[in-house]
Amino acid sequence: MKLPDLILKPNEERRVKRGHPWVFSNEVDVEKSPLTDFAPGDWVTLRDHAGNALATAYVNPSTLISARVVNREPDQPLTREQISARIRRALALRERLFDVPYYRMVFAESDDLPGLVVDRHGEVLVAQINTAGMESMRVDIVAALEQALHPLAMVLRNDVPARAMEGLEEYVETVIGELPDRVTIEENGVVFEIDPVNGQKTGWFYDQRENRARLKRYVKGARVLDAFSYTGGFGIQAAVEGAASVHCIDSSEAALILALRNAALNRCGDRMTVDQADAFYALRRLRSEKQRYDLIVLDPPAFARRKKDLRAALEAYARLNRLALQLLEDDGILFTASCSWHVDGQQFTGALRAAARGANKRVQIIERGHQAPDHPVHPALDETDYLKFTVARVADGL
Ligand code: SAH
Repeated sequence: MKLPDLILKPNEERRVKRGHPWVFSNEVDVEKSPLTDFAPGDWVTLRDHAGNALATAYVNPSTLISARVVNREPDQPLTREQISARIRRALALRERLFDVPYYRMVFAESDDLPGLVVDRHGEVLVAQINTAGMESMRVDIVAALEQALHPLAMVLRNDVPARAMEGLEEYVETVIGELPDRVTIEENGVVFEIDPVNGQKTGWFYDQRENRARLKRYVKGARVLDAFSYTGGFGIQAAVEGAASVHCIDSSEAALILALRNAALNRCGDRMTVDQADAFYALRRLRSEKQRYDLIVLDPPAFARRKKDLRAALEAYARLNRLALQLLEDDGILFTASCSWHVDGQQFTGALRAAARGANKRVQIIERGHQAPDHPVHPALDETDYLKFTVARVADGL
């Protein structure tokens, strides 16, 4: 099939040639190939300024990312067979990594399926289609997933704000079977009920699996504070591993109701309390009440969603971490995360350093982590390398 061309400005092919899968709107030679000639999701052959073919991509004329590469050959739109093959390949990695069928099964560009995210909660799949190009392949995607796994149910959680920018409507639709209200998953030997339809994102944050497993070493007999707890991912694993008490803070009531159910499910409800509140506010209140904890988890949402938010985000990370340090007992442990990819590892450490100075505490970084391996990093795409995680030992000032 001969596809229309999308021609880049001189020298703008370099990044794509190095393996980057995106073309930004300012890199397109719009005189030679006006973006306005295309509809969202159209297939194109990407060419350098001299006309040499680089790749096949799908376009969206109205977004900052104008084209996303799907094949390194020209005139090769994604086929159903290719989607199937890529899904099977993604699945094979997860089956190799994990003993239980609960994971991020497809992580978009990192699994060569730009714009598609699929989480597997056992027999139930939750998918998100984030781009017009992938939306045009919806039927093939659903068919490929059905064929690969024969799931009991599958829902499209296409209710993400990114879709509005793509010119796509937001909707939630069950496309296979009948969706149960709750799905039970297992992580690090602990069971959780999640809500695949009303839960945040796809219902569970698998990216922290390995970091939650780090709790084991530190929590015996500990008083734990789990801030930004969602449905209790860290807190309940801490309780199961022997924490004396766990206090969860989250702004979402629905998340905390599930956290309590999950605590009961794991027979640790008697050691868990929840507080629906803004975490900054709640931490300040706990500080004024002179509460102390042995281990604190900070797992906030991304503070820097855009580059221009960076400075404010770093200040917020510093403020939040300072509050936590002030609540820690001498020789306490801080689990602290940032999922903002705009904030890099050094900047995150900088925020922790500022927090330590502000709180007059000595901080030793003893473990570093990142996202779990079912969220592979695409080496050319920094955005896929987003989660920073630090375990620090905290002592009172010298
Ligand atoms: N730690 C969780 C995931 C956290 S996701 C886990 O292990 O599963 C981020 C959470 O922060 C969400 O549950 C969201 O409801 C909550 N949140 C966002 N802003 C908040 C705020 N200002 N105060 C408290 N919680 C907040």
